Amino acid sequence: MDTAQKIAIEIEGRRDELVSLTQQLIRIPTINPPGEHYLDICELLRERLYDSGFSCELIRANDAVEDSDLYPRFNLVARYEGSRRGDCIHLNSHTDVVQVGRGWSVDPFAAVVRDGRIYGRGACDMKGGLATSIIAAEAFIVCRPHFCGAIEISATTDEESGGFSGVAWLAEHGHFSPQRIQHAIIPEPLGKNRICLGHRGVWWAEIETKGRIAHGSMPFLGDCAIRHMSAVLAAIESELFPLLASKRTEMPVVPKQARQSSLNINSIHAGPGETTDGKMGFSTPCVVDRCRMVLDRRYLVEESREEVRNEIISMLDRIKQERPDFDYNIREIFSVQPTLTQRDAPIVTSVAEAIQKVLNIDPEYIVSPGTYDQKHIDRIGHMKNCIAYGPGRLELAHQPDEWVDIEDMMDSAKVMAFTLTQLLPDAAP
Ligand SMILES: [Zn+2]
Repeated sequence: MDTAQKIAIEIEGRRDELVSLTQQLIRIPTINPPGEHYLDICELLRERLYDSGFSCELIRANDAVEDSDLYPRFNLVARYEGSRRGDCIHLNSHTDVVQVGRGWSVDPFAAVVRDGRIYGRGACDMKGGLATSIIAAEAFIVCRPHFCGAIEISATTDEESGGFSGVAWLAEHGHFSPQRIQHAIIPEPLGKNRICLGHRGVWWAEIETKGRIAHGSMPFLGDCAIRHMSAVLAAIESELFPLLASKRTEMPVVPKQARQSSLNINSIHAGPGETTDGKMGFSTPCVVDRCRMVLDRRYLVEESREEVRNEIISMLDRIKQERPDFDYNIREIFSVQPTLTQRDAPIVTSVAEAIQKVLNIDPEYIVSPGTYDQKHIDRIGHMKNCIAYGPGRLELAHQPDEWVDIEDMMDSAKVMAFTLTQLLPDAAP
């Protein structure tokens, strides 16, 4: 019997365990924000991984801004040491889920199993992937009890809000570094036959146009900041959107429409604020002297942050030249550089071979339109040998009636376990 067959049999015997572990994870409502039950989910994982022979470290990101006594940020790092020295493979999953939202036909935290699927908030993004990686690691250890190297499994906080108390914090504190870890897989729900090499960059900025307050019955005595912003919007429509559409990328981003630069106008605020129930607030007759707009720009590996920034600034400066009294401020909110792992990186070729061998299909190489924790592993941890690979359909993430397919999890577990056999050779003589 060859290794792939041995792995397949071992994983098949763990189907019920995979389902029940996924259910247990979904039943802990780790909603972020605010970031609830991180300790509970870490305790559950610690108990399980300890029983499987892992040494476990429960780590609180106590100086992270998100951490508080009410909502403590707990991460778990578990490590299984092989019989001899060798490479370490790290499997990282985030434990947080987004808010429930409306439109569910099942209890989002009951983890109902129906028609071969497990339903619940976080089923696909990404408690299914987390459970899959644990089952894969445990099956591998049984199949190859004496191996060279080490396996690490981490369960981390706050990916949905930037990952600053999770992977970023651990990377800043030396947990992700090329000295400790040689290969990393993030089991985000990209699909069992897809290898995600990285993601586009992000640049968020707020533009403010300035005016002068006056009585609303005599607007000619003031200067309306909203009218100035409308000039910015017109320039975005007529110049910027066509320009962004013309910037194509070699990155294999999915969906295909995202294979270019993109811009979302995230918000516009001016005048009296809305009331908490979303209605217009009480207004007095005034000319608005301040209008703010937040832009969410996604950029390509072929572009730099400076280019992206200068594009907007030169547009605003041109409007300033053409339009009397136009004045603006720009404030950068945050940015993330694009990340792209090379196709010949060892983790990519190993997972590709595993997909071929186990599923008998050719792997698809993709790039995510949005970002995930790979940015921190790359930029802070300086680890380039990292991908996202895991079961589930990305389109279902954050949706009502989110689900993960049990068969997909089983297949991904086999791929992950087979990947471990390739990177962690047998230590037996
Ligand atoms: Zn996710």
